[in-house]
Amino acid sequence: MGLKIWLNDGLVDERDAKVSVFDHGLLYGDGVFEGIRVYNGNVFEGPAHLKRLYESAKVIMLDIPMDIETLADAMEQTVRANNVQEGYIRLIVTRGVGDLGLNPFICKNGATIIIASEIRLYPEELYEKGLKVVSVSSIRNHPLSCPPQVKSLNYLNNILAKIEAIQAGAAEAIMYNHLGYVAEASGDNVFTVRNGVVCAPPTQAGSLDGITRDVVIKLAKKEGIGVQEKDLTRFDLYVADEMFLTGTAAEVIGVVEMDGRVIGGGVPGPVTKRLRKLFFDYARS
Ligand code: PMP
Repeated sequence: MGLKIWLNDGLVDERDAKVSVFDHGLLYGDGVFEGIRVYNGNVFEGPAHLKRLYESAKVIMLDIPMDIETLADAMEQTVRANNVQEGYIRLIVTRGVGDLGLNPFICKNGATIIIASEIRLYPEELYEKGLKVVSVSSIRNHPLSCPPQVKSLNYLNNILAKIEAIQAGAAEAIMYNHLGYVAEASGDNVFTVRNGVVCAPPTQAGSLDGITRDVVIKLAKKEGIGVQEKDLTRFDLYVADEMFLTGTAAEVIGVVEMDGRVIGGGVPGPVTKRLRKLFFDYARS
């Protein structure tokens, strides 16, 4: 028994969830997506994810063939049909079926796909001990190319970054922008803590406008922890008291080594741990 997958206008069996080999989502990575958590059977931050999806689609001139409420309802139905309590939703909208040329305007029948399944997490041990990261040479998209805030199906830059990280024996890559400032990790946003203040590169530095990032910033402010959004350099990361990453799958995870330098005390620091706990409680509340 496979999963029930949402395909276009209803649920189908996994084995019947198929898209054309001429879909430009496959041929060119032409489409948009979201990764969303389910906690206690509830879709976490659904409206924020849907807003980002529709904004990404607008920027690449892709029409999502249903309105936001219908898509939200389709997500709920998919979660329920698969009885997902603690899990992960992958929401994908492709450009649709065209020919072998690039022209997106001739594409028809863009596929809307929703997969609600289990989540693959970092092992618990890594949350206790913290991650090792490395600087990579693949930079985030230039703002005049496909803007880095667009969550498109074309993740090759990030995949190249991940390859560099894995080959260097690290769990994650730190990616910079075309100006040399810190942007983010290959699939997570990056933060530092310095003198008790939480610092994050602004999204204009070339990161995705992370939903987890947003929630963590709000929770920190609510707790009276100072938050600064400002450009960070490699120097700022090396000398940080603490570093952590945020993302839908990772939630909040400490970084303890970067490019061979020990970060802070070499274990996830107190602010990281506090924010991880606050996020954990908030997400499940
Ligand atoms: N940056 C990139 C490149 C991502 O793909 C993601 C999502 N995996 C994030 C940051 C984190 O964003 P969110 O908190 O919305 O999952």
